[in-house]
Amino acid sequence: MAEQEASGLQVLLSTLQSSSDKEVILNILSVLTDLLSLGSGRRIHYVISKGGTEALLQALAIAARTEPPDYCILLPLLRLLARVGQRDRKFGLKVQKAEAIDIILSLARRNLGHRLYLTHCLWVLRVCASNVTTGTTLGINGTMELLFKVITPYSKRHIRTVRAAIEALAALLKSKSNSRRAVNKGYLGGLLRLYQDWHHNDVSNNYIYIRRGLLLCLKHLTNIQLGRETFLGSLGMEILFTSVQDCLSCKNLDPIITSATQILRKCYPKEPLPVVTIRSSYSFPLPGIAKAENPCEGSEGDYESEGEEEAEEDLDNEDVESKEEDYDLETDVNKLKTRPVLDRPEEELGQYEAMCPELSHNFQEFESESEEEKILEDKTESLPSAPFHFIPTATSVKHANYRWRKQSATEMGLDPKEKDFKVPLQNWTKKEKCRWDPIDEKRDFIKAAQDAGCCEDEDRARSHAFTLRPLPKEAAWYKKMFYPECESSINPSPGGRLESSDVVTNLLEKHQQDIPFHNPCVYLARAKCVKSIPGYKDLAFPDFCGHQPPPYSKPMLERKYGVQRDKVLDDVRRLIQPDDVIGRTVFDLDEPSHSSPGLPGCLTFFSKFESGNLRKAIQVREFEYDLIMNADVNSNQHHQWFYFEVRDMKLAVPYRFNIINCEKFNSQFNYGMQLVVYSVKEALQGRPRWFRAGYDICYYKNHYCCSAAAGGGMRGKCYYTLTFSIKFPHNDDVCYLAYHYPYTYSTMMAHLAILEQNRNPKKVYWRQQTLCQTLGGNPCPLLTITAMPDSKKSDDLEQFYNRPYVFLMARVHPGESNASWVMKGTLEFLVSSDPIADLLRKCFIFKIVPMLNPDGVINGNHRCSLSGDDLNRQWLTPNSQFHPTIYHAKGLLYYLRSIGRAPLVFCDYHGHSQKKNVFLYGCSIKETLWQAGCMVDTAVITEDVGYRTLPKILDKVAPAFVMNSCSFLVEKSRESTARVVVWREIGVLRSYTMESTYCGCSHGLYKGLQLGTQELEEMGSKFCLGLLILHLKSLPCSKKLMAQAALLLDLEEEITDRAQRRCSNSSLETDDEPPCVEEIDYNTDSSSDGERDFSELDQEIQECLLWAEGDTEDEGLTTGQSCSSKALRGLYISNQPASNSTALPLRSTALGVYSGFESSPA
Ligand SMILES: [Zn+2]
Repeated sequence: MAEQEASGLQVLLSTLQSSSDKEVILNILSVLTDLLSLGSGRRIHYVISKGGTEALLQALAIAARTEPPDYCILLPLLRLLARVGQRDRKFGLKVQKAEAIDIILSLARRNLGHRLYLTHCLWVLRVCASNVTTGTTLGINGTMELLFKVITPYSKRHIRTVRAAIEALAALLKSKSNSRRAVNKGYLGGLLRLYQDWHHNDVSNNYIYIRRGLLLCLKHLTNIQLGRETFLGSLGMEILFTSVQDCLSCKNLDPIITSATQILRKCYPKEPLPVVTIRSSYSFPLPGIAKAENPCEGSEGDYESEGEEEAEEDLDNEDVESKEEDYDLETDVNKLKTRPVLDRPEEELGQYEAMCPELSHNFQEFESESEEEKILEDKTESLPSAPFHFIPTATSVKHANYRWRKQSATEMGLDPKEKDFKVPLQNWTKKEKCRWDPIDEKRDFIKAAQDAGCCEDEDRARSHAFTLRPLPKEAAWYKKMFYPECESSINPSPGGRLESSDVVTNLLEKHQQDIPFHNPCVYLARAKCVKSIPGYKDLAFPDFCGHQPPPYSKPMLERKYGVQRDKVLDDVRRLIQPDDVIGRTVFDLDEPSHSSPGLPGCLTFFSKFESGNLRKAIQVREFEYDLIMNADVNSNQHHQWFYFEVRDMKLAVPYRFNIINCEKFNSQFNYGMQLVVYSVKEALQGRPRWFRAGYDICYYKNHYCCSAAAGGGMRGKCYYTLTFSIKFPHNDDVCYLAYHYPYTYSTMMAHLAILEQNRNPKKVYWRQQTLCQTLGGNPCPLLTITAMPDSKKSDDLEQFYNRPYVFLMARVHPGESNASWVMKGTLEFLVSSDPIADLLRKCFIFKIVPMLNPDGVINGNHRCSLSGDDLNRQWLTPNSQFHPTIYHAKGLLYYLRSIGRAPLVFCDYHGHSQKKNVFLYGCSIKETLWQAGCMVDTAVITEDVGYRTLPKILDKVAPAFVMNSCSFLVEKSRESTARVVVWREIGVLRSYTMESTYCGCSHGLYKGLQLGTQELEEMGSKFCLGLLILHLKSLPCSKKLMAQAALLLDLEEEITDRAQRRCSNSSLETDDEPPCVEEIDYNTDSSSDGERDFSELDQEIQECLLWAEGDTEDEGLTTGQSCSSKALRGLYISNQPASNSTALPLRSTALGVYSGFESSPA
């Protein structure tokens, strides 16, 4: 059947090429016309695949050779070529091969006076020019001159021809050498004037397609630097900006506004970032290295990229995209399969024995249980920083008003005989309130704050100067809130500034918060010990006071129509209408004296606190600020994370902020994500929380560039703007703005202290050790968590020692604070009294490094450590000096492997900035080879598919988790990440990276919602549940354990099922974001001009047939109005088949030739 179809079409095509009988040719053409004008483009593609293009070109060559040319044949041929050619990706090459360029061009030349013929030629020229090489040839042969002659001067005569010429010109100008030639010939100015004429004369907006076509020409011309310079010199900015203002009120004119805005943005003169150097304000001298200059790559060059002039990209290669995607896959089977040798002497591994105290613990303390209880009791009593929350138990849930004060660990712990397992996993988190008495405990707080036992002597001096950020004491609301009652208890110092400890005391008395697992004084004590490069003296209020997640989730922000365009036009206005531009630096980390903070009518910024990273703030206009983030220490890049304080704001005023040195190509800020904001006043009123805020949010390429000088040799780098507007909730408030919910190193250290003190020591084995000191001198904690053995009996001890390991890590990338919130959820669950946790502890020994990059977190980095290295690219050969946390984490893993105890599961928690949901990356040889299209000899490569079990389980139990987003491909660019190295070198089958979105979910229970800390923490606890199920599924375990687990999991399943049923939707869609609503990248290479939209030209051709039947010459005068409005409709109304408008009558003779064609496969 297929053969028959093919032969039918092929006979038709070969007859077309060989026949000299006019009747036959006309017949075939009309049959083809009829066929291709019906239905979708699938038929055309089929014809192309059978050599249709070549046949048509051949027929064209023959028909054009006759003298005079036979237009009865030529016109339908040209129409067919235009229709087929725009869908044939190799059309340009075929045209060249058939040497048809000259034929079409000379046809056009000899018909300058005959508009209908000319228009047909122009359509084909336009299609030819969509291939850059063919376009360039056309340009050399004088096509642009011809087109320019057709479109100038401005005239409403021959609208169709003018339109076809403008569109052909736009296609030609895609070639940069054509653009250069056109600019040199002065066409740019000519086009600008022509655009102005059309703009002014087209008052009823009937010729939008012409105006847009002219803008398209200008858009291509300004892709080259010469074009941009000429555009500026011809007052292009002013002309386009002014014309756009006239268009803004009319929604029909969107295509014009969008094109003009893109040109304006692109031509806005490039500027270096307004900083002395883009290198971080903070540098860290690396021990033993005289790295005089930065470790960043790059060479000389100005910030105008030179390369763009030369590169003529031919996009005809159809496989470009798919090839690029797979290029990174590791296809070297040996590399995938073999295990590399140790990266260090084997005898070094001995030191890690000390990090596994659980393996040599003999539990002699069981002998004197009562005595131990006493010790524990004493310990709890004497702890000044004892937290006032404990991990709730089944008992505590039953007593909602449970008050805990000075209880011994035994009392607060779960009675071992307690058999109440009815606590669903969700319930133990944060729901119940455990009150503490602030008056009684106040002294302890202050004591804790002052005698932080963890500080070394050398830090004493500094820690005394450590203060909470001052509160806005002049603010009316503050006076009202504090002074009426508190005047006696606080003594403003002569300078009007309260002593920090007084403020703290006062705050804690009046506004004690009830945030589980957080204690301000423990936080303060920990924060004092932190070693930072700037030597922080200030404490950000949110970190001190804590964050209590709001009881609701926030939906993703709906993108306002045209928001980006409006912002870009507002940016351009700085250049065109500079009257209201202030341009005053109000905060500068590098040169504090150069800034003028506290001026009336301007915001005050600050960020010199843990994880803060604002570098500079410039007041652009009264309520608009440009902000620059600091680069990672010892680097000049990685700007993404931000965290800073802002004060002196006015109520309800819309402030616009632009973070102008972002680097990523796209951002979730374009897809519904909001930043997070914390208001001190809100906190003092009992709502201490980060909340998602900001509107008019978008992310786009700006005009800032990195000059070679500022970049230390890094050339041609471009920046993106994240812009957002905020109306602050209070007058004169102090607010904090951040990329994502902050989670500082001190937060983590305080959290660990609180967890340790509140665990049930009879059940939870907990050891906190120091994995190593970081480069910056901060301890990197290592935790061991498991269940205490049931008894000292050898069976129980053996079970204890032989539990498989699970190795978890987080926050190697400091900007990924979401990873810490997930880890927080994991840790709280692991030490909780939840019966599932109890069971889980009996199944595994957990080794956890909750923060692999403390220095990065502390100093406000986004990606790197103090050495300026991405620590998650160092796992192949970590350097003990520069990457100590990686070196020792890997060492510990090596050690575990060397004693035959390689972990069952390894997971590194991360945050993902481009995708939604939570998902895992894992490693599979087979999936990688398959994806790369390699032949896989399944006999040679055997692979345990056990790596898929955990993600499948998580897909079921964790609402934010999506299996479909997971990937198990091993990429070359990831070969030095923890996941791949632990998989290959330590031999861990289930080695994962867990990626949590910064934004929200596109699937499941949380679909359409932005994630909050509650959901992230829940993910951490559900991960634990997943581990338990994995254990039950894949490891042999005792009947007793199995029975217990079955009971618990049934309960759990019921809950999960209910949740999932509520939102049963397929997870078959991919999770990749669609192209952005508005183009983000105003790159010179961007060419989204809608030329892939075939319907437009098709429509033109169809309409022309009607027109051809009627008047042939003076269409502009007689039918211009109606034509253009039809064409206008064609611009907006998509592909409407107009089947019965063929010009030439169908003849029946050839029908038999193509029988069966209808059912042809595409
Ligand atoms: Zn990461």
